[in-house]
Amino acid sequence: MVSYKELGLVNTREMFAKAIKGGYAIPAFNFNNMEQLQAIIQAAAELKSPVILQVSKGARNYANQTLLRYMAQGAVEYAKELGWEHPQIVLHLDHGDSFELCKSCVDFGFSSVMIDGSALPYEENIALSKKVADYAHQYDVTVEAELGVLAGVEDEVSAEQSHYTRPEEVIDFSKRTGCDSLAISIGTSHGAYKFKPEQCTRDPKTGRLVPPPLAFGVLHEIEKRLPGFPIVLHGSSSVPQEYVDMINAHGGKLPDAVGIPEEQLREAAKSAVCKINIDSDSRLAMTATIRRIFDEQPGVFDPRKYLGPARDEMKKLYEHKIIDVLGSNGKAE
Ligand SMILES: [Zn+2]
Repeated sequence: MVSYKELGLVNTREMFAKAIKGGYAIPAFNFNNMEQLQAIIQAAAELKSPVILQVSKGARNYANQTLLRYMAQGAVEYAKELGWEHPQIVLHLDHGDSFELCKSCVDFGFSSVMIDGSALPYEENIALSKKVADYAHQYDVTVEAELGVLAGVEDEVSAEQSHYTRPEEVIDFSKRTGCDSLAISIGTSHGAYKFKPEQCTRDPKTGRLVPPPLAFGVLHEIEKRLPGFPIVLHGSSSVPQEYVDMINAHGGKLPDAVGIPEEQLREAAKSAVCKINIDSDSRLAMTATIRRIFDEQPGVFDPRKYLGPARDEMKKLYEHKIIDVLGSNGKAE
């Protein structure tokens, strides 16, 4: 048993309470490799932004759970080296799908876990989420649960049919599970293809897809019923079109990739939404940079020559998200 507190990590309780009061949101960035982690920590340390490092099932399969946890532990020390005296870094399990997995993460030093029972029948979702919350709370680990089903595919999380969270269920669910935060479905979606062309309109000038707006009505109904309760948005990449263009210009093929407009996320961050998950955008930044370098400098074969610039591009992206979308800069001095 390792407590996250010994590793210098923090849970989400205090940072969410401050974020709701302050009208901003905490970035939750997924990581799978060293360059991504360096970019996240550099951006958070320079901007003094609290940050949530997320480990998904795909990440655990790809990089190994043990290694990722030690990397997060190293990230705390790295942040201090960068001059961030009191780093506020959360290590969070993204989309935990069983009690055993959540327990193993709690026992191993994670400071926060998500139990995703959203595909289960309502009562089973409650029973599973409560079991995880009861266990995690003994160790002061915070728990995110989910109600409503998101569309899209990402790291082995996929759903054929999505539906919005039902506001009439949120009080009962949060009370009976004891969860610390609630992931809801209001039209965000996993992956780089969040909407099918038939769900969108097309901008006549640029020919680009314009996605349907998020269901702010549902969000406001939920907030009314659970005032001050932390709300989480998954699948909130914006799929920056400059990266899509760069990928397509250098041999890639991502036609009609489209995400959630950043203005809408900024709007959501001002509400009880206090955690916004962003993964695909950093994948796009990395892929676009590497494709460009491979195309322009075919002689390059030292991975540092393309992973280094990819890391710099991801850092730029994370800084932009922190300052312009989440508003979390300067909130962890
Ligand atoms: Zn998710």
